[in-house]
Amino acid sequence: MFPFIFFVRMGVVRTYLKAIFEKGSNSILILPMPISGKLAKYNSKRDFKKTSEPKGAVKRKKSKNSIFVVQKHQASHLHYDFRLEVGGVLKSWAVPKGPSKNSKDKRLAVMTEDHPIEYAKFQGEIPEGEYGGGRVEIWDSGAYESEKSMKSAVRDGQIEIELFGKRLKGKYALIRTKIGGNSKNWLLIRMKE
Ligand code: MN
Repeated sequence: MFPFIFFVRMGVVRTYLKAIFEKGSNSILILPMPISGKLAKYNSKRDFKKTSEPKGAVKRKKSKNSIFVVQKHQASHLHYDFRLEVGGVLKSWAVPKGPSKNSKDKRLAVMTEDHPIEYAKFQGEIPEGEYGGGRVEIWDSGAYESEKSMKSAVRDGQIEIELFGKRLKGKYALIRTKIGGNSKNWLLIRMKE
């Protein structure tokens, strides 16, 4: 029994070392930090030699203030990207019509991949032919507050927040629906005060 177990363990160690040496020194940094996986989708969609968008890194910070940003994105179809800082990344939704200040409007908000926190400062031109090619401008930004834990609110598909932006002030809800059978479809609604 002992030599068999020993052999298996050596096999695991060998595979690990092989991965490090074959992929170069980066593997040493990446393997012990599974959290970088949160932005794997964001990073895989972009060629950072061509776009000036920030490269994804998960940020940990102690401050209680969380930020939101709305970016007007003139891609193949104009939309507004609504992003909320949660757990070191920006949770993101594409809102075709943009947020409304009228509580009677329900705006479709399609969940997209997590973005790095630095993305909240990004504006500029994503080159044509690249992912999301077109002009990005910051339409609004500021702090937001949530009474509930945001992590569980996102998981439950029931977010209620208060925005402290320049354009958007007040309470908004983001509710996951199954419109069109797609759980990525949420609704962004201004709540009555
Ligand atoms: Mn976009």
